[in-house]
Amino acid sequence: MKSVLFDLDGTLLDRDTSIQQFIAAQYDRLIAHLDPIPKTDYVTRFIELDCHGHVWKDRVYQDLVWEFAIESISWQALLEDYETQFQFHCVPFRFLTETLSQLKQQGYLLGIVTNGLGQFQNRAIAGLGIRDYFDVILISEIEQVRKPQPEIFQRATNRLGVPVQDSIFIGDHPEADIIGAKNAGMMAIWKRSPHWLEAREADATIDELKEIPFILEQFKRS
Ligand SMILES: [Mg+2]
Repeated sequence: MKSVLFDLDGTLLDRDTSIQQFIAAQYDRLIAHLDPIPKTDYVTRFIELDCHGHVWKDRVYQDLVWEFAIESISWQALLEDYETQFQFHCVPFRFLTETLSQLKQQGYLLGIVTNGLGQFQNRAIAGLGIRDYFDVILISEIEQVRKPQPEIFQRATNRLGVPVQDSIFIGDHPEADIIGAKNAGMMAIWKRSPHWLEAREADATIDELKEIPFILEQFKRS
């Protein structure tokens, strides 16, 4: 195994916690426009509408503004606040930097392959402070190809100069990450997620990032 590639949201970035922190902070920051909506109502409804990131925020904020009859700030202004401020609320999963530096020390090339908007995902990676660990970062909007299409995985390994079969992918989405990576010819580790039942096609399953070096050792021996 020569390279280790990661998904971002729900794998490196604890998106559920980050979104909760962000939306509570957004309410506090813009309270002059959002009062008298109760904070818990604003936070809870945003998280429901976001649907674990599956609904883009232009839709979410249009719905919020309509449902709460917000008049003194536009959905576009709320969206812009999200686009520029989310990066300051990015929370990593436990053992993130420890794991990345250990893999780096062991000589692995590292990459991120994520679906999403280029500038937004780049800001989130910067927000986590982990950009320098990665040799390649592929974001679907910039690449014009999305997971689970095999092409985006193969493009990542091409840029690293490593054969796909010498690469492993780690992600939380059974289809986009696990089936996508397997179809591209890579091994795949599923990072267990409360949002999905199981990823049966995975070569291994982890709960914590720190398990990765140990699993790579096991693969080497088998
Ligand atoms: Mg994910």
